[in-house]
Amino acid sequence: MHDDRRLIEGRLRRTLQRIEDAVWSHPVPVDLGRWDAPGEPVPVAEGLAAPYAPARVGEPWGPPWGTTWWRVRGEVPVEHAGRPVDLRLDLGFDPLRTGFHVEGLVYRADGTPVKGLNPRNQWVRVSDAGAGEAVDLFVESASNPLLLGGGGFDFRPSPLGDPETAGREPMYRVVRAELAVFEQEVWELQQDLEVLGQLAFELDAHDPRQWQLLRAVDRALDRLDTADIAGTASAARGELEGVLSEPARASAHRISAVGHAHIDSAWLWPVRETVRKVARTCSNVLALMEDDPDLVYAMSSAQQFAWLRDHRPEVWTGVVERVREGRFVPVGGMWVESDTNMPGGEALARQLNHGKRFFLDELGIETREVWLPDSFGYTAALPQLIALSGSQWFLTQKISWNTTNRFPHHSFRWEGLDGTRVFTHFPPADTYGSEVSGAEVAHASRNFSDKGDATRSLLPFGWGDGGGGPTREMLARAKRLRDLDGSARIEVERPDAFFQKAEAEYPGAPVWVGELYLEMHRGTYTSQAKTKQGNRRSEHLLREAELWASTATVRTGAPYPVEELDRIWKVVLLQQFHDILPGSSIGWVHREAVAAYEAVAQELTAIIDAAQAALAGDGEAEVVFNASPDPRAGVPALGAGPRSSTGDTTDPVTVEADGDGWVLSNGLVTARVDDHGLLTSVVDMASGREALAPGSAGNLLQLHPDTPVDFDAWDVDAYYRRTWTDLTDAESVEPVEDGVRVVRRFGESTVTQLLTLTSGEARVDVGTEVDWREREKILKAGFDLDVTTERSTSEVQFGHVHRPTHTNTSWDAAKFEICAHRWVHVGEPGYGAAVVNDSTYGHDVSRRDREGGGTTTQVRLSLLRAPQSPDPVADLGVHRLRYAVVPGAGIADAIREGYRVNLPLRVVRGSGEVVEPLVSVDGGGVVVEAVKLADDGSGDVVVRLYESLGARSSAIVSAGFEFDGVVAVDLLERPLETAGFEPVEGGVRLALRPFQVVTLRFARG
Ligand SMILES: [Zn+2]
Repeated sequence: MHDDRRLIEGRLRRTLQRIEDAVWSHPVPVDLGRWDAPGEPVPVAEGLAAPYAPARVGEPWGPPWGTTWWRVRGEVPVEHAGRPVDLRLDLGFDPLRTGFHVEGLVYRADGTPVKGLNPRNQWVRVSDAGAGEAVDLFVESASNPLLLGGGGFDFRPSPLGDPETAGREPMYRVVRAELAVFEQEVWELQQDLEVLGQLAFELDAHDPRQWQLLRAVDRALDRLDTADIAGTASAARGELEGVLSEPARASAHRISAVGHAHIDSAWLWPVRETVRKVARTCSNVLALMEDDPDLVYAMSSAQQFAWLRDHRPEVWTGVVERVREGRFVPVGGMWVESDTNMPGGEALARQLNHGKRFFLDELGIETREVWLPDSFGYTAALPQLIALSGSQWFLTQKISWNTTNRFPHHSFRWEGLDGTRVFTHFPPADTYGSEVSGAEVAHASRNFSDKGDATRSLLPFGWGDGGGGPTREMLARAKRLRDLDGSARIEVERPDAFFQKAEAEYPGAPVWVGELYLEMHRGTYTSQAKTKQGNRRSEHLLREAELWASTATVRTGAPYPVEELDRIWKVVLLQQFHDILPGSSIGWVHREAVAAYEAVAQELTAIIDAAQAALAGDGEAEVVFNASPDPRAGVPALGAGPRSSTGDTTDPVTVEADGDGWVLSNGLVTARVDDHGLLTSVVDMASGREALAPGSAGNLLQLHPDTPVDFDAWDVDAYYRRTWTDLTDAESVEPVEDGVRVVRRFGESTVTQLLTLTSGEARVDVGTEVDWREREKILKAGFDLDVTTERSTSEVQFGHVHRPTHTNTSWDAAKFEICAHRWVHVGEPGYGAAVVNDSTYGHDVSRRDREGGGTTTQVRLSLLRAPQSPDPVADLGVHRLRYAVVPGAGIADAIREGYRVNLPLRVVRGSGEVVEPLVSVDGGGVVVEAVKLADDGSGDVVVRLYESLGARSSAIVSAGFEFDGVVAVDLLERPLETAGFEPVEGGVRLALRPFQVVTLRFARG
């Protein structure tokens, strides 16, 4: 037999074009009216009542970020009686840009939504079998501009990401507005041919099935008259029946397909547009569920459900109904699909608390899987938090984006830093927005790493980001692939059905220990510094607000601001979305994030001030409030009172000239600053050992070019390290109170730093103000520490992780930029040093040659970047931040100083009496993370704490108030069976495993 497969392939491709053009027939035009909303989107009622002007096909419309309302009127022609008729409206859609430009939502004249319009979904059914019916529909369309190019990304700077710079030129043109008959049989033939053709070309040439499929396709095309496709489609389909009914092989991979739309809560559009994207996609899903009882759709992010409830109540009502049926499935159990590298421990707990609570309260659903397909790496703290929220599974696929190493598993048990293991799945199709194409299905089957012992994987399908979610074409493909020779088997089903079966069939699933580090997007720890800083500051203000408001309520009966705190938490949780906190959104989004953080800071400061005023009482004496988990200035942890020395060293800070520099001392630390403003010595008095590497300069600022290959705001690529400038020239260096002030100019920028000591505290602070005017540069601040170690230790949520300081393997080398929270520590047995910060997440740690032999360890903070895409002015402007070096520090010291630089003492005038803490802990390494009143308004006191050193520990937690009983609870404050929990007089005794998180609930009568 001659090999004519290429000819058949070409014939099929060309014929499918002709078939596509024949899916609709007998078009008649409709009357089109148009109204351009003058600014931001308007309420639906206002759009419906607007003054519409006549419009026609071909006319331009749509300035960047505009909203245009269309009115469509027509009549179903009488000759179409008995046939389905659709409105086809093409507003200038480009199928290659689905989710990234024009979108619309269709309404009836009464304002009820019908379905979304998208590049891959340009039709609305107006009549199933009628004729002569009047059509009167409205469309609210968004002319969102295309950022980052189209099908392939283009990272040139664009002014379109902010309405202030985007201009008003119309970007789109109406292409089609007509009523047409939907030719069902032609469409079915299109689905048959696409599925069989795509399958055939995924099969091996040695597989007889490939040849059988191609022969059948060839025969079907012989039967199709391209001059009368509608009239011959059935005959062509008849030739395909045989090959379509051959069952799948016994060993075929099993795919659980789940309808889905990954809708970024903000990214190349602002939050307000996501509100509409969610409504459009959900309208589409509800309409498709009407048409196809097989559709199961999973949607994450309680925030997105809340937007529906609050902004599109008709869509919400429809969703609630389908949730009850079990077809519309809330997943994820988080408020948003957050980043998990940077949110603090308490914030990550609240992502789960607020997410799961919303699904329980509003929908009666307890979600069981955490669903984060797209976040940029996953903290080792997550498995424990998943379990403590009452969930049991985890899903992502992002690690398939690794640029260096291939992750070895698709189904595995993920072990977090405390030892909790969670069954985890990475969909092997390597996408969270499948089209159910032959290539994707075959790739999933081939790529699935665990195929020897496990048989099934999950496939999320549907257009994301406002592209409209699943389509009838995807469902048609899934149905044909249910049981088809040569293909994996596809079942459309709920994620929990998949997880139950996948976990049960794979009891020996391999274990992966520790963080899921994404070998990509390492610039997201640093981009958009003000967003990072807003997050860090908000998290600590929330800690203070809850602590002092609870204390005030218990001590004085002041009302607890439960609603304000709930609302503020949700604002902060939204900004942790995986394109906001990582800094990868357009300028508009980051401007709004910074404004949101400002408002949050004001509200929280007011809550703190009111609570502290109530607690301090009347008078003019000084009352010092200490929100940190360690005593400070003689004030107990989590309490308040007058400053006292209590035997600690509280020598005043001295600054003395010394040759070409100055010596700073406070009895705990001595530091020397030279006339270039560089640290030449840092010694803690306890050990007397020099912390800085011989011959090195501490607090050395270094400037690197930062020009990643792709994804500017996301990535910093390894070659950046090979080129740099040491910023050692100082414009001025002068002594000031408690330290030395240094001013440096470089490029177009200026940095002013205050190197200071604080009485009673064992670190050298570097207060930094940068007027940052560089583009595509990264600014690092480094300390070369005289410590030899194979690993660094970084704070993460509720604990810390170790990463290599060497580059032995490709896995080690890929971690050239790491994320840390308040501190990074490096140490040898008996000695170490820490670098702490109040705003910074990105760091790098590397080994250096030591003068005189051996190695030293350089710790650097990534202070600022300036990527130009998608925000061309990212990070330009004035930044104020703080970091510090802590010489002679163990891990416990690093933890303490990390809290201190983020939680300044607050001084209030009052009675001068001691305010006893609500809770005190007696036991090494056990840290209180949150003190709050219970979410249910009962007035119970909730205390969350964790073992911080990675050691087994016991502690007694004592309540400083009367209580009726104490229980351990989960993150939703529900009783939780907890080992090592023993109530004792006045509190509870705990036996904790390394990094265990425990939440206590004290009942108050
Ligand atoms: Zn995303």
